[in-house]
Amino acid sequence: MKRIRADENRGGRGSKVGKASAETAARIDANSRGQVEDAVRVIIRHMGEDPDREGLKRTPARVASAYEFLTSGYAMDPKEAINDALFAEQDYQEMILCKDLDFYSLCEHHLLPFMGKAHVAYLPNRKIVGLSKLARLVEIYARRLQVQERLTTQIAHTLMSQVNPLGVAVVIEAEHLCMRMRGVEKQNCYVTTSAMLGAFRTHTETRQEFMQLLRNGKP
Ligand SMILES: [Zn+2]
Repeated sequence: MKRIRADENRGGRGSKVGKASAETAARIDANSRGQVEDAVRVIIRHMGEDPDREGLKRTPARVASAYEFLTSGYAMDPKEAINDALFAEQDYQEMILCKDLDFYSLCEHHLLPFMGKAHVAYLPNRKIVGLSKLARLVEIYARRLQVQERLTTQIAHTLMSQVNPLGVAVVIEAEHLCMRMRGVEKQNCYVTTSAMLGAFRTHTETRQEFMQLLRNGKP
């Protein structure tokens, strides 16, 4: 599955605002951006480091940019992303599964990364959605402060409400650096979450077919 580059998702937001309000927005952005960099300087000092030493001088600016990128999903509307690519399809009524969608997110408790793979399936009901949009949906919700459980259900519910299929299944397998790096280091611990809606919840056979497809397709 093609990964959507984040810069594809940038821009476009300011295009409808007038020149004056765009300038105001830019000024506010510049202000809060400065505050973010100041805050990073405080954190570096708190670590016992000198934020003005050569190697750290540009770190606050880099950290601010990194967080802007890693949370760029807030500026994107997941419903809009899907609605752009809905197609009528009467004949295909079998399960559609998009496996192994890589994602990177930030845990909202520690601001440390968690990452892994998302598997998204749905049972179409006269409408299908462009496959790349499933990857985009995962990315839009992943590039926010998250917990894995909410990331899973947000993807499932958005797909359910926008595409109106007979059912949706989302499974996410992830490793959390806040578990791996802190305290008792729990290496090789993967967390699996799932959300089953519609037929995937009510029909054991549909759920089993999904699980079977997940297992079999492994290289
Ligand atoms: Zn955490």
